[in-house]
Amino acid sequence: MKVAIGADHGGFPLKETVREMLEARGITVEDVGCYDTNSVDYPDYAREVAQRVSRGEAEQGVLVCTTGTGMAMTANRFPGVRAAQCFTPAMAELARAHNNANVLALGGGMLSPETAGAIVEAWLDTAFSAEARHARRVGKMEQYGRSGVCADGAADAAVRAILDAESERQRTTLDLIASENYVSPAVRQAVGSVLSNKYAEGYPGKRWYQGCANMDRAERLAVERAGAVFGAEHANVQPHSGSTANMAVYFAALAPGDTILAMSLAHGGHLTHGHAANFSGRLYNVVGYGVDRDTEQLDFGEIARLAETVRPKLIVAGASAYPRTLDFSAFREIADKTGALLMVDMAHIAGLIAAGVHPSPVPHAEFVTATTHKTLRGPRGGVVLCRSAFADEVDRQIFPGLQGGPEMHTILGKAVCFQEALQPAFKAYGQSIVRNARSLAERLAADGFRLVSGGTDNHLMLVDLTSAGLTGKAAATALERAGIVVNKNCIPFDTRSPFVTSGIRLGTPAVTTRGMGEDAMHTLGGLIGDVLRAPDDEAVTDRTRRAVAELAGQFPVP
Ligand code: PLP
Repeated sequence: MKVAIGADHGGFPLKETVREMLEARGITVEDVGCYDTNSVDYPDYAREVAQRVSRGEAEQGVLVCTTGTGMAMTANRFPGVRAAQCFTPAMAELARAHNNANVLALGGGMLSPETAGAIVEAWLDTAFSAEARHARRVGKMEQYGRSGVCADGAADAAVRAILDAESERQRTTLDLIASENYVSPAVRQAVGSVLSNKYAEGYPGKRWYQGCANMDRAERLAVERAGAVFGAEHANVQPHSGSTANMAVYFAALAPGDTILAMSLAHGGHLTHGHAANFSGRLYNVVGYGVDRDTEQLDFGEIARLAETVRPKLIVAGASAYPRTLDFSAFREIADKTGALLMVDMAHIAGLIAAGVHPSPVPHAEFVTATTHKTLRGPRGGVVLCRSAFADEVDRQIFPGLQGGPEMHTILGKAVCFQEALQPAFKAYGQSIVRNARSLAERLAADGFRLVSGGTDNHLMLVDLTSAGLTGKAAATALERAGIVVNKNCIPFDTRSPFVTSGIRLGTPAVTTRGMGEDAMHTLGGLIGDVLRAPDDEAVTDRTRRAVAELAGQFPVP
C-alpha cells in the first residue's frame, strides 16, 4: 500500500511520528512536506496529497495541520477524495467503514502522539464495509460532487496536465491583458454544467427540439438580467462571440457593399470594424476614422466631416485599444446629421458601463454589441442589445442566419454574470478597475514612459516604447519572461508592422479581480519599468519573476 503524507508547520512534528509508524508497518510513504516548522500554507500540502489520491497515485493520504480542519476542507475539493478529520480511534474506524474515507486529517495541536497513533492504527486496520447502504451513500456523495466545480477537472492525464499547467500559470503570473479576466466559481460552474448537453435551436417557446423547458428558463433569465443591467429594449444573448454579435448587426442593418464608418484597427478599432482580412472588410465598403495626431483622442469634427463625405449607412463606435471615455452623444449627433444608423461595440467597456463608471451607449444607439468575458467578467461570448424595431431582424440574423444551436451552458453563465454585475460589489469593482488603471499609468509616466493620449480614463492604457528603444514585441516577450503578461499593440500612426509594433497595451480588469489596489499597481508599475529598462538582463528578469510570484501569491485568483 502507498500512502501520501503531508503537513504544514503546525502539523510537522506529528507528521514525522506518523511517517515512522507507517514505515514500521512496511507501508510505502510518499512525504510531500513540509520538512520543518517554518510557516507555510496548508492548502499547498493538502493539494499535493489530495491530487495523488484523486489520481490513484496513492491509495490513502494522511494530512496534518494544527487542527486538521483546513487540510480536510482543501482535500475534499478534489474529485474522488473523501477526507475525514478524526479526533478518536472510533471516528477513524467509522470513517473508513461507513464513508470509505481515503484521506485522514489530524490535528497536530489537538492530539497527543499516543492518541494520534491509535487513530492511525484504527484507520489502517479498518476496511470499507461491504454493506449496500454504505456503498449507496458513498456513491451519492461522489455523484453530487461531480455536479459541482471540480478542482482537478478531468481523469485524462493529458488533459489534466494542461489544466494543471494553465492553473499554475494563471496563479503565478500577473495578467495585464486588457481584454481578459477571471470568472467567478459560479460562472465556471454554469459553463461546465449539464446545460452543455442540450440542443436548443430557436428561441424560448419556439425551439426545434423537445426537452427545452429548462433551456427556455435559462435563456429568459439571461435576457431579463441583461435588460436589468443595461436597460435595453431588446437583448439577444445567443451570439457565440463578440465577432458574431457584430456580424449579426451588420447583417441586420446592411446589404453587401454598403458603407460603414468605423475606427480603424491601426488606431484602436477591432478586426470586425472593417479590417481588410475580416468578413467586415470583405463584405462592406469600410471607411476608417482615427485619432488626432496631437491629442491622440477622437476628433469629432473630423469624424463628422468624414461622415458628411462618405454618407455611411452605419457608424460604428467602440474600440479595443482606446484609453479614453467615448462620447456616444457626439456619435449620435453625427449619425443623425448624416442619416446613419449607430452601432456601439462596447465589448471592452461593458463591465465599466454596468458598474456606472463609463457612460452608457444604450440611450444613443440603435444597436449595442458586447462580449461578456472582458470587463463584464462573464463567460466567453457575445450579446446584442437593440431597439425593439430591430429585434426580430437581429434575432433572425443570429438564428438561423449565423448560428445553429446556442451554447446554453454559456447562456446560463451569462445569466450568472449579469446577476453578479447587478450587485453593489460590482460597482465597487468597476471603480477599482479605473482607479487602478490611473495609478498604474501614473507610475509608468513618473518612470518616464510615454502613454498614448497622456493617460487613461478607463481600464486600459497604451505605452509608447519608441523612446525606450524597444519594440512592443520585444517588451511583451521580456515581460512574459518576468511573469507579467501583456500584449504588443500598435500605437496611433505607428511606423512598425502590427507583428512588431511600437507599443504595449496594459489593462487592469484581471488584477483588480484578484483584489489588487493602488499600492499593488504602484509596485507593479515599478516592476514593469525595471524589465523595460533592462529587457535582456537575466538577473532583472529573475528578480522580477520572484517579486511577481510573491505579489501574485498575496492576491489569489478566484
Ligand atoms: N469588439 C471589440 C471591440 C473587441 O475588442 C473584441 C475582442 O477583442 C471583439 C469585438 C470580438 O470579440 P470575440 O473575440 O469574442 O469575437
